[in-house]
Amino acid sequence: MHKMLIGGSLSAGSRTMDVIDPCTGQGFDQVPDATADDVDAAVAAARAAFPAWRDCGFGKREAVLKEMADAIMANIEELADLLIAETGRPRDLAMFELAHLATGYLNYYGSLRIEPELIVEDDTRRVELHRKPLGVVAAIVPWNAPVFIACNKIAPAMAAGNTVVVKTAPSTPLTTLRLGEILADIVPPGVLNILSGGNDAGATLVAHEDVAKVTFTGSSETGRKIMAACAPTLKRVTLELGGNDAAIVLPDADIQQVAAPIFAFSFFNSGQVCAVIKRLYVHDSLYDAMCDTLATMAKGSKLASGTDADAQFGPVQNKAQYDKVCRYLEQAKRDGKVIAGGEIGDRPGYFVPLTVVRDVAEGHAIVDEEPFGPILPVIRYSDIDDVVERANASPFALGGSVWGSDVAAAAKVAARLESGSVWVNQHCALDPAVPFPANRQSGFGVEGGIEGLYPYLALQTLNIAKPQAG
Ligand code: NAD
Repeated sequence: MHKMLIGGSLSAGSRTMDVIDPCTGQGFDQVPDATADDVDAAVAAARAAFPAWRDCGFGKREAVLKEMADAIMANIEELADLLIAETGRPRDLAMFELAHLATGYLNYYGSLRIEPELIVEDDTRRVELHRKPLGVVAAIVPWNAPVFIACNKIAPAMAAGNTVVVKTAPSTPLTTLRLGEILADIVPPGVLNILSGGNDAGATLVAHEDVAKVTFTGSSETGRKIMAACAPTLKRVTLELGGNDAAIVLPDADIQQVAAPIFAFSFFNSGQVCAVIKRLYVHDSLYDAMCDTLATMAKGSKLASGTDADAQFGPVQNKAQYDKVCRYLEQAKRDGKVIAGGEIGDRPGYFVPLTVVRDVAEGHAIVDEEPFGPILPVIRYSDIDDVVERANASPFALGGSVWGSDVAAAAKVAARLESGSVWVNQHCALDPAVPFPANRQSGFGVEGGIEGLYPYLALQTLNIAKPQAG
């Protein structure tokens, strides 16, 4: 059984929970299920490790983060096997998450440096602005990109000089636990602690009085609970929550050019990504042709376990999400015209066929809500001002994109979207050096870029009076 990393030691904990294979719906492994005592031990270890880690300097921290990234690459086949086993996703996607995203964020944040800034200097005083680490950071991770999102939090938190306790998602603990075992000899004891456990372990960690900051990625519903739980001790909190990203296809778009990337960024990871296309608005003049092209692509895609070398798309990751996506499928059939997918069939596991729905609009659940699965609603529009207003009329504001042949014109339309990220002729283009902000109920406290380091640092002004003559 893979173990938790607490204070530099590996721990089996005192109770276990099952890990389910989403391709079969059957348990295939067990992991520790962290108790409140395990949470206490991890926070105490992180707290004890904080002063030395805070004081060791950016150079030492960069070396450790780089070694962590190198360790992922050195063990990538084993880690990819585990990630495929617990998510069912195709191998190329597992490799992308590990080799590109997880290591990319560790290396990028390791390379950053924060120096004091001189704000004022005159005959009477010198004022400097310093940024200092906060202490113990609790990182609560979802199941859709378990290793990437853990590293996306670990990297800036540790680079800034904080120590970290990670709580993995209940249904995807395996790869992150194995990573913790690999990192046990690389990271100084207590600087990084990794717990597997249920929602209760997350709630205990968030409420812990020795945790200085919580960074959370997951549903908006849980985000609200976490924000409330941070209130009694006034913890800082970063929330990366749900999204309902709109993509707008302008009348001058070339369907031959844009259909493939739109398809890819709608169904990436079988739609289980916060910032993939979840509402596709297509101009009236292209609507039928775009619907037909996307339906043909969906029907031609291979849905299979990631252990199958030909797999292009995997299952929904867990039963609760699968049940939710199945409910959306029923609503899609009732509210619109399903032109690809739609039928689950009787195969085992949590497979949902790539589903394209046309003739739907706002007011239908699959347009207004976030299915977080492989269902794409295609919505007709005829007026640019109207479609911009409709794209912005969502409580979510995470990402959005505009597609067209006249790139400058498309960029002008994109600038009118209110989401944290807007893309032109691409979507969900993640880069560690580029901030990934969330607006409205998609969250706050940015990740990515140098801006993603600041939420892990407290500001301090140092104001020095100069001796005055006479
Ligand atoms: P979730 O909110 O159910 O769970 C996320 C994590 O929170 C899990 O580790 C869970 O155990 C923990 N948790 C649950 N209740 C808790 C509580 N009361 N206190 C502390 N921790 C608690 O989300 P999920 O179903 O794992 O993930 C899917 C959601 O995440 C989607 O809505 C998706 O849009 C969102 N998401 C957002 C981003 C982003 O960057 N904005 C990225 C990925 C996923």
